Amino acid sequence: MFIDLRDRSAVLQIVVDPKSIPAAIRVGLQDCIRAHGTLRERPEGQRNNKMITGDVELEVDELEILNRSKVPPFVVESEVKASEELRLRYRYLDLRREPLRKAMIFRHRVVSAMREYLNAKEFIEIETPILTRSMPEGARDYLVPSRIYPKKFYALAQSPQMYKQLLMVAGFERYYQVARCLRDENPRHDRQPEHTQIDIEMSFISEDDVFKLIEGMFVHILKSVLDQNIKTPFPRFTYAQAMEKYGSDKPDLRLGMELRSYIDVFKEKDFVPFKAEYVSGIIIPGAYNVSRKYLDELNEKAKKAGLAGVYWTRKDEKYSGSIAKLIDESIAKQLNLRAKEILLLVSGNTKALAFLGEVRKDLGRSQIKDDKGFNFLWVQDFPLFEIDETSGKLIPCHHIFTMPKQEDMQYLETEPLKIRGRQYDLVCNGNELASGSIRNHIRLIQEKLFEYAGMDPGKYTMLLDALDFGAPPHGGIAPGIDRIVMILAGLQSLRDVIAFPKTTTAQGLLEGIPDEVSPEQLKELGIKFEGLI
Ligand code: ASP
Repeated sequence: MFIDLRDRSAVLQIVVDPKSIPAAIRVGLQDCIRAHGTLRERPEGQRNNKMITGDVELEVDELEILNRSKVPPFVVESEVKASEELRLRYRYLDLRREPLRKAMIFRHRVVSAMREYLNAKEFIEIETPILTRSMPEGARDYLVPSRIYPKKFYALAQSPQMYKQLLMVAGFERYYQVARCLRDENPRHDRQPEHTQIDIEMSFISEDDVFKLIEGMFVHILKSVLDQNIKTPFPRFTYAQAMEKYGSDKPDLRLGMELRSYIDVFKEKDFVPFKAEYVSGIIIPGAYNVSRKYLDELNEKAKKAGLAGVYWTRKDEKYSGSIAKLIDESIAKQLNLRAKEILLLVSGNTKALAFLGEVRKDLGRSQIKDDKGFNFLWVQDFPLFEIDETSGKLIPCHHIFTMPKQEDMQYLETEPLKIRGRQYDLVCNGNELASGSIRNHIRLIQEKLFEYAGMDPGKYTMLLDALDFGAPPHGGIAPGIDRIVMILAGLQSLRDVIAFPKTTTAQGLLEGIPDEVSPEQLKELGIKFEGLI
């Protein structure tokens, strides 16, 4: 009899003779067994090159069933047909499948490489509290009622942000932590209510130091887990450049089709829609075979996004499309289109750039053939504040602890929207992998920023007070581990790299959460539900 025996490392074929070991007949799928025997080479012709242990097998002389398994609710194989809901409900079985097992081990290797690298650079790992004060950093807090102090709450840390700054004030200079971050955000397909960062903070540094450190960390990770070399330094773009060239603050450099300004090309034409802040366009290669229907759909989409629509021309024998009539000899020369290429233009404010950025991404991604390379880049100099579309209020673009750029300090008292922050994002293949900033170590500046954002400085006294005690200049960054592992492993879902993830609707199907609690527990906490509930 042959049995496929699986452990953490692989599957091994074992060979048992039921005549001498009758227990073999009773072994069922997913049972836990102990086998002892002699490892031997498989006879020629019986080798299986699809298994890493395919050249050998174990000839068993002792076999014991340690524990029986019920019939699993789905077949535990690499390729499963079972729904993700069912697999999440029985996650411990799902984790027995090779792709997930491999992903967990891969994740461990990535995190080990991060730690190795930072330890070698004399960083020290310090843990900070999960149970903290409600100090929203951008998302909603998860609140934890206190039993001992009725009507009072703890909050789960959204990140170690303030604590790591306090560690700098305490003089630790170089800190890191594999940190869990808990944020009560609206569910989205690529978001988890809790995620893990490699949280980093340093004193006496500038942007260049952070970039160099993180570039070195990725060189080390890629070399040690994938044996790949990457080129450093990573290209750098300001936020404004990234928007103008790619229509995105997390551009995917693999896609080509860079945005260009066509404002000067059509300047002489009296075409009202092109009298705008931006007239930008991308050239869609003929090979993409973009249909008329697609262009019509884009036009509708653009209108829904608050733009006037899209304008396009295609070059065949003649120019066709909505702006064909604008194209004279001089313009044709400047456009320099090749046969079958389509020039797609959008006009308006920065929304026009973002719209083109989305089109570029949709079209470009569907054309990527070789998905192996990693294109890292930095985006920096983001606006410090932006206007929140729903509330109309000023909100920090990254977080409120970011220091304004020196040359924009002049706007600090008067025009907050003009201030650029010393903030930077690390981007890879269109994904934001890390975000960080140089912080405010001067109390007055930090207080001013709280005021603009309508945040109560009284809630943040723990940080503000500390800044008064000789706080060193400092800054940091926090690469997101889940996303990094997902991208390096070439996987599509964050849930594939998290041992016990929540669903896209923030439920834990394994735990059955969120769940009600007993009336006694509520009473102890002094909680009563009213109104809708
Ligand atoms: N605490 C920040 C975040 O979680 C990262 C940082 O600025 O270091 O996004």
